[in-house]
Amino acid sequence: MTAKTMAKLNLLWLLGLLFFSPATAQDFRWQQRVEYLMDVHLDVKTHRVKGTQKLTYYNNSKDTLRKVFYHLYFNAFQPGSMMDVRSRTIVDPDPRVSDRISKLKEDEIGYQHIESLKQDGKDISYSIDGTLLEVTLAKPILPNSKTVFDMKFESQVPLQIRRSGRNSKEGIAYSMTQWYPKIAEYDYMGWHAYQYVAREFHSVWGDFEVKITTDPTYVVAGTGKLQNADKIGYGYEKPGTKVQRTEGELMWHFSAKNVIDFAWVADADYAHDQLQVPEGPTLHFFYQPGDKTTENWKKMQSKAVVHFQFMNKVFGQYPYDTYSIIQGGDGGMEYPMCTLITGERSFGSLVGVMAHEAAHSWYQGVLASNEALYPWMDEGFTDFASNESMSNMFDEKNPHQGSYGGYFALARNGLQEPASQHADHYNTNRAYGAVAYNMGTVFLHQLKYIIGQDMFYKGMRSYFSLWKFKHPSPNDFIRVMEKTSGMDLKWYLSYWINTTKRIDYGVKNVLSNDSATFVTLERFGEFPMPVDLVVTLKNGTRELYYIPLNETLGSKNVEDQSIQRFDMEAWPWVNPTYTIKISHIAGEITALEIDPSQRMADIERRNNVVDLSQGLKAYHSQTK
Ligand SMILES: [Zn+2]
Repeated sequence: MTAKTMAKLNLLWLLGLLFFSPATAQDFRWQQRVEYLMDVHLDVKTHRVKGTQKLTYYNNSKDTLRKVFYHLYFNAFQPGSMMDVRSRTIVDPDPRVSDRISKLKEDEIGYQHIESLKQDGKDISYSIDGTLLEVTLAKPILPNSKTVFDMKFESQVPLQIRRSGRNSKEGIAYSMTQWYPKIAEYDYMGWHAYQYVAREFHSVWGDFEVKITTDPTYVVAGTGKLQNADKIGYGYEKPGTKVQRTEGELMWHFSAKNVIDFAWVADADYAHDQLQVPEGPTLHFFYQPGDKTTENWKKMQSKAVVHFQFMNKVFGQYPYDTYSIIQGGDGGMEYPMCTLITGERSFGSLVGVMAHEAAHSWYQGVLASNEALYPWMDEGFTDFASNESMSNMFDEKNPHQGSYGGYFALARNGLQEPASQHADHYNTNRAYGAVAYNMGTVFLHQLKYIIGQDMFYKGMRSYFSLWKFKHPSPNDFIRVMEKTSGMDLKWYLSYWINTTKRIDYGVKNVLSNDSATFVTLERFGEFPMPVDLVVTLKNGTRELYYIPLNETLGSKNVEDQSIQRFDMEAWPWVNPTYTIKISHIAGEITALEIDPSQRMADIERRNNVVDLSQGLKAYHSQTK
């Protein structure tokens, strides 16, 4: 090859990269962007926050925006709010909420009052309905342009009812989450301006500079990195630094880049420990020292390091340089670069909640799917990852067994609803929980069964690296898994998420002649799946008969080299039965089993197994 052709080829190759590279940023959908500058004062006597907010809003859409919406979440904590009514009328209310909002007194409710609002220096009109602020713009925001909103607001921090508030059950003074007027997300689906009824959140990517001034005896922790650690102390300063505090109140300056939210806490009694994750973030731990906390919180810290290492390796690298695990809130709730968890727990429960909430850094903090519309991509994927990390930490077998159990119970109790609806609209909290957490976890573990282990984990890492900071939708996820595995998976997404159809495969009959055994399988459920049928022979060998589903247009790779796999013709999904010829007479076979890995969520497993150890006659007599 001459140098000239070589140069030509190089140029072609470069052009190819420019035009055909699958993963460049411009290939993704547009998304809005924000920059918040907030300067707030917390009065620890009146529990009020007064502050200013300068919001630079970038309209990267092709639409001209004539109005915008803000969330005023604290307004949910007022008698008669939608959150209050919903909690008093749903059949199985969250006990943390129950009828507590209806009983709040004037000085215990939450509110967000807007004192002034300007767009590019001009006053603009707005109206408030519950937890939504609708703003009619003075000047439309044109495509690919920006505008600046200046707001003055005053809020009252409600008594801790749900997620945020003052005086938590464990005595944390301020859990400041969903605490500031937050602009709603506008994306390819339009405005996501949902009233705050129960759950959950969807927000605009952006940068936050937040200055919090308050009583100097309070320790503040939250999203982002403290910028003035040497003027604050409380364990934030570099070791050996002489902290130079100003007189009176302290101003804490936090900075967070490329996050979807900003949360913080304040309490006078926090202990603050730190631990470095090798090739990962610095972990900060904030808890009130005491008999019910200190020992477990100390022991949990090394587990948190192992957890981050596992998550980085298996699911993708955590992209920020700090993460804070903070005692606060009313259970466990994820925020960018931090979590608030209740702290007076047994060791196992503390590690479990830490692992779950920290795993949300991947499946909420960084991927940030719309968790109101697709809670299963948020809670389910998080539970899946934390189950696997916990099993790595404590050497547990079957880490997803509980999730399968939760799904099976839901499918049998008549409360199941499709996973494709908005999280607030389930008839029961129970169905929401089992769908979002359990079915979301099973969705992934079962996907592992369909496409095979190696492609599954490769796909999960590709998904993270392609879609981080970009709000992926269900289709975005399944496309990555399709491209990685070379299989079509739309049918799977559609059946599992949009329907309540069930999987049930079984052995219909077994016949044998002098040279072979014929096994007829039946699809009893409406939900088609590929089938792994494992045959155990009397000499101890096992053989896998793999029957792909024709809908996938492909096969999974061999998962287990220690067992011989026979690749069968694909099963057309419309066919109720499928017969396999096994080249052994029945007398040589001990047992047959459909999916011994039990990753397929088969609702009736009793018909998956055939015991031939007593001969074919015995089997027939059993099933008559
Ligand atoms: Zn969660």
